[in-house]
Amino acid sequence: ETIGENFERVVAQFPLHDALIEAAAVPGADARRWSYTKLNDDVDRLARALLALGVVKGERVGIWSPNCAEWTILQYATAKIGAVLVNVNPSYRSHELEFVVKQNGMRMLVTAPSDRNSDYVGMARQALAGCPDLRELVFLPDFDMEGLDAGVPVGEQELTYAELLKQADAVGHSELKARMAGLDPHDPINLQYTSGTTGFPKGATLTHHNILNNGYSIGELLNYTEHDRVVIPVPFYHCFGMVIGNLNALSHGAATIIPGRGFTPAAALEAVQDFGGTALYGVPTMFIAELALPDFASYDLSTLRTGVMAGSLCPIEVMNRVISEMNMKDVAICYGMTETSPVSTMTRGGDTLQHRTETVGRTMPRLESKIVDLAGEVVERGVIGELCTRGYAVMQGYWNQPDKTAEAIDADGWMHTGDLARMDDDGYVVIEGRMKDMVIRGGENIYPREIEEFLYTHPSIQDVQVIGVPDARYGEELMACIILKPGAEPLDAAAVAEFCRGKLAHYKVPRYVDVRDSFPMTVSGKVRKVEMREEAVARLG
Ligand code: ATP
Ligand code: MG
Repeated sequence: ETIGENFERVVAQFPLHDALIEAAAVPGADARRWSYTKLNDDVDRLARALLALGVVKGERVGIWSPNCAEWTILQYATAKIGAVLVNVNPSYRSHELEFVVKQNGMRMLVTAPSDRNSDYVGMARQALAGCPDLRELVFLPDFDMEGLDAGVPVGEQELTYAELLKQADAVGHSELKARMAGLDPHDPINLQYTSGTTGFPKGATLTHHNILNNGYSIGELLNYTEHDRVVIPVPFYHCFGMVIGNLNALSHGAATIIPGRGFTPAAALEAVQDFGGTALYGVPTMFIAELALPDFASYDLSTLRTGVMAGSLCPIEVMNRVISEMNMKDVAICYGMTETSPVSTMTRGGDTLQHRTETVGRTMPRLESKIVDLAGEVVERGVIGELCTRGYAVMQGYWNQPDKTAEAIDADGWMHTGDLARMDDDGYVVIEGRMKDMVIRGGENIYPREIEEFLYTHPSIQDVQVIGVPDARYGEELMACIILKPGAEPLDAAAVAEFCRGKLAHYKVPRYVDVRDSFPMTVSGKVRKVEMREEAVARLG
C-alpha cells in the first residue's frame, strides 16, 4: 500500500474525527482544526495543484519551514502524486540551502514566510537565482502574523500558497486517482537529511514501504486508536516529526496536534492541556526544559498516558519524573536513525522502569538487529560492539552517493549504525554512545554516558555532556561540560573530582570542567559534541 492509499482508507473509516489541530500562534486567536475529511480535501486540492504545474512522479519538492499545518498537507499531497518530499532543515542559511537544492536537483521549494529569526524568502530567492533546476518557489501564508514579509511581492517563478491552490481547478479528481494508481510502494517518496550531529547531513532516500510500515508499527506498539491525540513539538523536518509523529498517528486514525512553530516548553504543555493530549513527544532535552518550567506544576497533564522519547540517551532522573510527574506511564523509548525510517528498537507496554531507563527496548517487529566487533563478527551477549539493523525499514541509500551508501549498508543488507551497543539475553539493547564519541584515554575505552549519568546525580547539575579533548600524555582527556541549575553554587574541576572520588575509577574523573549556559544543538535537539570539542581544543590551545 502507498501512503496515499493508506491515508484514504483511514479517512473513510474516521471521516469526522479530528486529524490535525494547530494551536494558535497569536494569544487569543482560535486554533486551526481539520477533520480527516477536511484534511483529505485540502491534501487533494494541493495534490491537483501540483499536477497542474506538471510535477511528475519522482521529482523533488522541498519544504523549508518550521512546523505548520501546511507541512502535513504537503507531506500527504506529495505522497499522493509520488513526488519525493525533501525535508530542508529550517535552521539552514542560504549556502546550505543551495547545497541541498543542488544535491538532489530540487524542482520546487515551499518556503516559510520570513520572521524575526530567519529571512526565508530572501534566502530562497538567492537559491532560486543560483540553481537552474529549481523552477518554482512557493511562499507559505504568514501563519503567525508576525512575519516581516506580509504581502511580499511575488516575482517570476514565484507563487503564494493561495495562488498555487488555485491551479487545482485545472485538474480533475480522476487525474489524481490515475496518478495514485500508478505509484508503487517501493518508489522513493521522501528524501530525509540526517541531523548533522557528527558532520555534514546525508540525504537518506526512503520509500512509502519504508516509512509507512515503520510509522504504523510504532503506533501498534503504543496501542494508538482513533481516540489518541498526539502532541508533536519535534520538527516535522526530521523523521521524529514526520514518521514517528505524523505517519504514525494518521495511519491509526489519531489526531496530531502542533503546539507552535518552534519548540517552547510552555507551548508544548499548553497544547497537552488545551487539546487533551494523550501522547507527548520529545528528545530528552525538551522534557528537561518542560520539567524545569517554574510553573510546571500548574499544567493539567492528566490526559497524557504515553509518548515517545528518542534521539539521544535520557538521564534516569528525567525519565522517572516524566513517568511520575507528567503522567506518561507508558512512555516509550525509541531508538533509530534517519537511515532506518527511523525506529529499529523500542520499549513495549509491559517493559519495566529499568528497561525504559537503561535500554532502548527490543528490536521492532519484522526487523533484525545484531552487534558486531571491528572484524564484523557477532559478539557474545553483553559485549559492546557496533549495532547493525536489517529489514524493511533500511533506506534505499544516500541520494546520489553510492560510495557512502556502500560504506553504510553491507552486501547482506545490514545498515551499520555507527552506534556502540550491547544486547542482553532477552534482546534488550543498551546504547553506549556513538563510536565517534568514545574517548580513549591512556588505552582505556571510556563511554561518556556512564560519566554523564553519574554527574547528573550532582545536586547543582541541570545538564551535562562529557567529551574527549586531545592530551599529549594520555592521547585524550575528559572534559565535563556542565549547565548548572538556576542559583546553584559554581563548580570547578576540583569540586567535580571531589564528587567523583571513590565512586568513579580515577581515569574516568574529568580533568576539565566547562560551565556553560547552553550546548550547541541540532534542530532535532541533539547536542553537537563535535562543535564542543572544536571549541575546547581552540580554548585549551
Ligand atoms: P548525522 O548522521 O548527520 O551525524 P544523526 O546521526 O544525529 O546525525 P539522526 O539520523 O537524526 O542523525 O539520528 C540518529 C542517531 O541518533 C543514532 O545513530 C543514535 O546515535 C542517536 N539516537 C537515536 N535514538 C536514540 C536513543 N533512543 N538513545 C540514544 N541515542 C539515540
Ligand atoms: Mg547518523
